[in-house]
Amino acid sequence: MRFYHLLSQVFPRSFTAKVAFLIFAGMHVPAVALFTFLEATQGPMWEGATVVRMVFLTEIIAMCLTAAAITGVLAPVYRVNRTVSEYTSTRSVDLLPSGYKDEVGRLMTNVNALMLDVGEELDAATRAAETDPLTGLLNRRGFERQVPPEFVGALLYMDIDHFKLINDEWGHGAGDDVLVAVSDALSAALRSRDVLARVGGEEFAVFMDETVEARALDVAERIRDRVRTDVRVHGRPVTLSIGLAIAEMPRPRAEVISAADAAVYDAKAAGRDRVVVARMAQAA
Ligand code: GH3
Ligand code: MG
Ligand code: MG
Repeated sequence: MRFYHLLSQVFPRSFTAKVAFLIFAGMHVPAVALFTFLEATQGPMWEGATVVRMVFLTEIIAMCLTAAAITGVLAPVYRVNRTVSEYTSTRSVDLLPSGYKDEVGRLMTNVNALMLDVGEELDAATRAAETDPLTGLLNRRGFERQVPPEFVGALLYMDIDHFKLINDEWGHGAGDDVLVAVSDALSAALRSRDVLARVGGEEFAVFMDETVEARALDVAERIRDRVRTDVRVHGRPVTLSIGLAIAEMPRPRAEVISAADAAVYDAKAAGRDRVVVARMAQAA
């Protein structure tokens, strides 16, 4: 790298300039030196001066064409540079041409493999960071990434009733089984476009975009019914308290979540195993 470093002092921003300089220095400096020497020692009209001048001019033209050709052959290197920069800033993989067998071809193949590998690892890490390992549902982080920061739609918050008693009576393992069974029942009762997540220990949330109150209430009752009939611990039904908040106009996510959460507490206070609709101001 020492020579490259040295040339970089002179041409810091352009690889093409470095190459052009080397062509010039390698091919023409000796000829120019000889030409200058002959002119200096024999005067401007020495024998053969015209021919040498024409040769010199031809070589300058040839040098420019060679520099252009070398820039062309270096195009993949510039492309790798652009692609990697773009990948670093946007994470979008724009694959480089493949199938070339020389060093630059292999560089492109390797860069492609690297981008795909890093992309997969990153996707897997993001999925893991946004997934609840027990139920396989989204966790709170995943939920917040999938629900728009401001939306029109319905949000359900659900909390399993007296869940602590299940743990206390039947053990933590039985509690975990109930969480999985509830998550399965919820998944079965919802459409695939609804966003379902486990947002806390025994708390779940559902976001349904563009959904009006009557339909959301229907879904909430269906969920409550399904869990109550499908999920049992030693014969005893498991029930949910559900808070429902509706944004008829675009509302901030945090505001709708806290309204639904407050409605869950109202459902608990009113005796559990029920749906309570949050009263939200709907003016913009
Ligand atoms: P309420 O009807 O008022 O909601 O009562 P609750 O017992 O459901 O509520 P509380 O908040 O007192 O208890 C929640 C319990 O959930 C306490 C905690 O130990 C348990 N829990 C949280 N996460 C998990 C988990 O991953 N597995 C199990 N088995 N239990 C959990
Ligand atoms: Mg709770
Ligand atoms: Mg609870």
